[in-house]
Amino acid sequence: MPRATAIYARISSDPGGTRLGVERQIEDCEALAGSLGWTVAEVYVDNDVSAYSGRRRPEYERLCDDIKAGVVDGLLVWHPDRLHRSPRELEDFIDLCDAAGLTDIRTVRAGDVDLSTSNGRMVARLGGVIARSESDKAADRLRRKHLELATKGKVSGGGTRPYGYTKDRRHVVPEEAAIIRQAAKRTLAGESARSICTDLNERRIRTSVGGEWTPNTLNRMLRSARISGRREHRGEITAKAEWPGIITPAVSDRLRARLSRAAGPGPSGRSPRRYLLTGGLLRCGRCGTVMYSRPRSGGLRRYVCASGPGFGGCGKMAVNADPVEGFVAEAVLYRLDTPQLAQALTEARQANAEHDQLAASIAEDTAMLEQLARDYADRAISHQEWSAARQPIQGRIDAAKRRLSRISRTHRIDDYAGNSQALRDAWADLDLPRRHAIIATVLDHLVVHPAVKGRNRFDPSRLSPVWRL
Ligand SMILES: [Zn+2]
Repeated sequence: MPRATAIYARISSDPGGTRLGVERQIEDCEALAGSLGWTVAEVYVDNDVSAYSGRRRPEYERLCDDIKAGVVDGLLVWHPDRLHRSPRELEDFIDLCDAAGLTDIRTVRAGDVDLSTSNGRMVARLGGVIARSESDKAADRLRRKHLELATKGKVSGGGTRPYGYTKDRRHVVPEEAAIIRQAAKRTLAGESARSICTDLNERRIRTSVGGEWTPNTLNRMLRSARISGRREHRGEITAKAEWPGIITPAVSDRLRARLSRAAGPGPSGRSPRRYLLTGGLLRCGRCGTVMYSRPRSGGLRRYVCASGPGFGGCGKMAVNADPVEGFVAEAVLYRLDTPQLAQALTEARQANAEHDQLAASIAEDTAMLEQLARDYADRAISHQEWSAARQPIQGRIDAAKRRLSRISRTHRIDDYAGNSQALRDAWADLDLPRRHAIIATVLDHLVVHPAVKGRNRFDPSRLSPVWRL
């Protein structure tokens, strides 16, 4: 049984429409860890919306470093396709697991991935190949079609009628255009989306589908390049559109700049309801089990100690998410200014100085390897000489990388320690994974104690943090 299990989750564009939120992937993996009796040591999350594009995945790389360094010895993913985007990546991963002796890999959807046997490898390879070819075919077709339409400034069909335009999306509806211009002006003057919506709704002005305005719909509309007569593709303006604009491109650019930060994460600018204290950060004070996010049927966000198969908790503890998340954020911000943390960070900073040294030595050694390879290619040295010279250098690089992966953690909070105000100011704009990372750097976990009977309001004395730093 592995001592330290890693969970890897990845969000990607998914033409099959089965895209699964990172949070759900993590929760399912945590449940699986619970049923296996494995301890989750670390959660790695990549936001990789352009699948198969070959873009770097920083968290995947960190995972590989940690496997190499022996920091984790078990791995859970939702489906193998989260882990590998191409057969090439799978082969590299097999080599890595071989070298590190990692054999404990489980997936929620596809069972065990046993890379230690030839049969298991074949299954993994086939699975990867199938996932890739299916995704490739559908994605390529769609991608090409959309890109072509986008670069020509053409209408892309489907969906509901955009506010301000006729159903064929080519002509302006004058009354609605006036509303858009007005809302744009008010937004740029600093009025909040909420206040504009209240006003529109009170005046019984409805959206294109006859609904009431919400800040989300309003901002999405004002952010769109469409209303300035420009065609947009994946958030980028690709061409002058075949339809007329309602506001000028200059006004649109100002709106887009102003509203982009409020758009939140995700390719569609829509942020799903998410939970901050996942990945083992909350523990039940009755039985010590990790608590999971589980909204009440009315949608009230909660964390609960879950009983039943796969969970193994007592099932007798629940806490509302909003106040706990607020408490943790405050506690972490407070902690950043304490002498204990300053001390922990002095040590961490020394590690950071070492970090720079290590990075420099890796760069130097890598350059040396490249020079050796050139010498060998030029026949200045023999293969034997090349091989003999190469080994100690490669060894140094590997050792430096192992050391690096152990000490790189504190970088996340280094900018903020002793200056919680900077983080407090930035907090609202940080995305959820970033907040989670900062909290997990400082906080090991938070124990939730039973509520005192008769106390209905949120009671901070129920919560006791166990600090990591
Ligand atoms: Zn419990």
